[in-house]
Amino acid sequence: MTYIDVGPDELVDVDPADPGDACVEVLAPRDVPLGGPRAMTVRRTLPHKDRRMVGAWCFVDHYGPDDITTGLGMQVPPHPHTGLQTVSWLFDGEVLHRDSLGSTQLVRPGELNLMTAGRGISHSEESPGGHSPVLHGVQLWTALPEHARHRAPAFDHHADLPVVEGSGASVTVVMGSLTGATSPAWTASPLVAAEVTLEPEAASRLPVERDFEYAVLSVAGHVVVDDRAIDRGTLVYLGAGRDTVRLGTGNGGTAMLLGGVPFEEQLVMWWNFIGRSHDEIATDRAEWEAADPRFGTVRGYPGDRLNAPVLPHARLRPRGRHR
Ligand code: MN
Repeated sequence: MTYIDVGPDELVDVDPADPGDACVEVLAPRDVPLGGPRAMTVRRTLPHKDRRMVGAWCFVDHYGPDDITTGLGMQVPPHPHTGLQTVSWLFDGEVLHRDSLGSTQLVRPGELNLMTAGRGISHSEESPGGHSPVLHGVQLWTALPEHARHRAPAFDHHADLPVVEGSGASVTVVMGSLTGATSPAWTASPLVAAEVTLEPEAASRLPVERDFEYAVLSVAGHVVVDDRAIDRGTLVYLGAGRDTVRLGTGNGGTAMLLGGVPFEEQLVMWWNFIGRSHDEIATDRAEWEAADPRFGTVRGYPGDRLNAPVLPHARLRPRGRHR
């Protein structure tokens, strides 16, 4: 990590007289089993029935902290992706990523595994042998805009991300820019992701972009956004047009801040594919089932690859960011 000392303008103690902004929507998580015969359950807040996206962020899964001492932990067999980036970020434990480009990369807390699917890739994710007792993390997706969604697939591991500290908060900039620091991770549209760790009694104000919309995921402990305490696992949507996001805590907590320019393209999201039409998704599915070379081969995973589910009878319709 790279630690950056910042001046008082970057992370500001909250003025108690400032009424600030209000939370707009509280998006409760739902429990979803991940694919595969040994699936673990995650808490999903995007897509949500009341909101599909926050900026280009279109998928938010939060899992753990789980004691995996006696269990298998994460075991997600090889499966394909198109038109998106996967962002793997941990708070505890480790996950081993393998992909069809030949990447084999362990990710740990404070490090980013970023996979840009582009026109097609496949990968697996597993708790490695000898793993830590506790697994806790998020998997997030960004939708790639039209200009980037047909690009060549890529995988990047970033172990040296900027960390900004002040006002009882420690902010790791995972993607994009925040509080004067910029992540080296590649993005296809203006967006941000940051982990914010709050010391007990912290009250911080993060300067943000007026043309971004934002949301905060409460990850651990006690997290207060604006003046509202947020249940762990819940995503609060904060809208756009803000200059600041206020984060506080009583006895300490951890949150993820996500944001970006509202994503105006209509998408079809189905299984692990993001496309623009039913026919495109049907082709993605058929080519994965036929082991088309577009998705390559994941080597080394101790198990079979995942088969795609059956397409619904109704045609999939492109939908906008609202719902
Ligand atoms: Mn995946």
